[in-house]
Amino acid sequence: MQYVVLDLEWNNVYGKKIKSFFNEIIEIGAVKLDEQLNICDEFSCLVKAQVGKKLRLNTREITHLTNEDLENGVTFPKAISIFKKWIGAEETVALSWGDGDIRTLIDNSKYFGLGDEVPYLQNYVDLQKYFQRMIKCESKQQIGLKNAAGLVDIDVGNLSLHRALDDSRLAAECFRKIYDKKVLEEYIYKCDADFYKRLRYKIKVISFIKNPLVDKSYLKYKCEKCGGKAKQLTGWKYSNQYFRANFYCPKCDHAVTVMVRFRKMYDSTEIKKVIKPLSITEIKEQNPESQENDNGKV
Ligand SMILES: [Zn+2]
Repeated sequence: MQYVVLDLEWNNVYGKKIKSFFNEIIEIGAVKLDEQLNICDEFSCLVKAQVGKKLRLNTREITHLTNEDLENGVTFPKAISIFKKWIGAEETVALSWGDGDIRTLIDNSKYFGLGDEVPYLQNYVDLQKYFQRMIKCESKQQIGLKNAAGLVDIDVGNLSLHRALDDSRLAAECFRKIYDKKVLEEYIYKCDADFYKRLRYKIKVISFIKNPLVDKSYLKYKCEKCGGKAKQLTGWKYSNQYFRANFYCPKCDHAVTVMVRFRKMYDSTEIKKVIKPLSITEIKEQNPESQENDNGKV
């Protein structure tokens, strides 16, 4: 038995064949560990994009990869064939930070005619979920990899985050820090028919605030500077996947936009909350009366 911690980078593109957008994989990175969690080997492969000939600006910004870099890559089917060889015949437990990578791997396999399963991975662990259980942060809010590393005192140091190999190295370090064989077993899914059925489930973003799945406790905001009650300046408005409202703490003269996304998963609700600082000028522009209006909207 071996562990393979994997991470992918991708570029969002329009796939004519499926008449919709999907994430085309541009890099595969992985770290292989034995049962004692010794790091045995590393894998890194650039994938020459076939669908999106040009990287989107945000992909270039996040990954620092260029179109020229990808010219040196191999096609996706070739990359998978090298990756499979690298994994080898040993029974494998694959791990990734959140299940986005495994979904993307399946989408790409399907798109490039390699079938809609990944038989070279026999078992799967959503490392993010397992990590949050181990550090007793089982909130529905997901912790990013970099923050997670900080929570268990891992020095991110010289790693280039958002590159596949370095992200998988960091995820592997997080895994080593919080390893507990017994708890881990609860998080290992066999990649069987039910597993694929869950992954193929189309995630739905909740856009109606009165939906019973909207957990109101996530719509509260306490000033992150003083911990005091902040005043809600605007009602919750839905746009681009998120419910958004502005809050203001008079004590700190600090304003933010709180953004909360609720997604209905196969058998759970996933919540993401983002707080963005807002300048006082922006508030005045958006709500000219907010300075005088004392009735905090709920
Ligand atoms: Zn405050």
